[in-house]
Amino acid sequence: MSHPRPLAILGGTFDPVHHGHLRAAWEAAEALDADVRMVPARTPPHRPPPIADAAGRVALLRAALEGQDRLVLDTRELERDGPSYTVDTLASLRAELGPERPLVLLVGADAFAGLSAWHLWRDLFGLAHIGVLTRPGGGHALPADLEAFVSGRRADRVHGPAGSVVDIAITPLDIAATAIRESFAGGGEPRYLMPSACFDDPALLEPYRALGR
Ligand code: ATP
Repeated sequence: MSHPRPLAILGGTFDPVHHGHLRAAWEAAEALDADVRMVPARTPPHRPPPIADAAGRVALLRAALEGQDRLVLDTRELERDGPSYTVDTLASLRAELGPERPLVLLVGADAFAGLSAWHLWRDLFGLAHIGVLTRPGGGHALPADLEAFVSGRRADRVHGPAGSVVDIAITPLDIAATAIRESFAGGGEPRYLMPSACFDDPALLEPYRALGR
């Protein structure tokens, strides 16, 4: 029987999307032989509200993803009311994919180290694998409860629908949305940190340019 290709998801605020997100997603897609859904968050519970509203962040993602079909926009969190828990997003994807297809939640190594603070974190492993985006040479120390839970789950590659932890080595690009917003706020034009398509329609970047006025 042939094995279904994994589907991976990368959540984030994407305020705005940049080449750091896109390369990480692309490298994970190649490493896992997966497609990747980019899942913008509606109202992240523990952060100040995004500069661009949901429609604006989606429009930038659409522009950024143009011309390829391996990284795909998924707006399910924007269609639900209120902040979304990852466990709910994975459950909704799992319902759509059926029980067999490998599903991989991509998280940065720093976020992974804080996983045991997430809502119903142990349930994540019943729904998906976790792909930890790891910088070369970088392993974050894990708190004891998380280490104990994941130590028997580490694997070299995903196998089966869910349940393991796989490190995915990615090339770090030192790009952050915070620095991009700061550049706009200072009247700058942060080209080449984001796809040029994001600059094609001036309306797309207006919420960020307004920071500088
Ligand atoms: P901010 O600067 O506003 O905190 P950010 O650039 O870190 O934003 P997020 O939307 O918070 O972007 O990131 C979404 C996901 O992408 C997270 O899992 C994050 O770890 C990952 N990510 C962000 N920037 C990079 C990067 N340069 N390289 C690899 N992964 C990244």
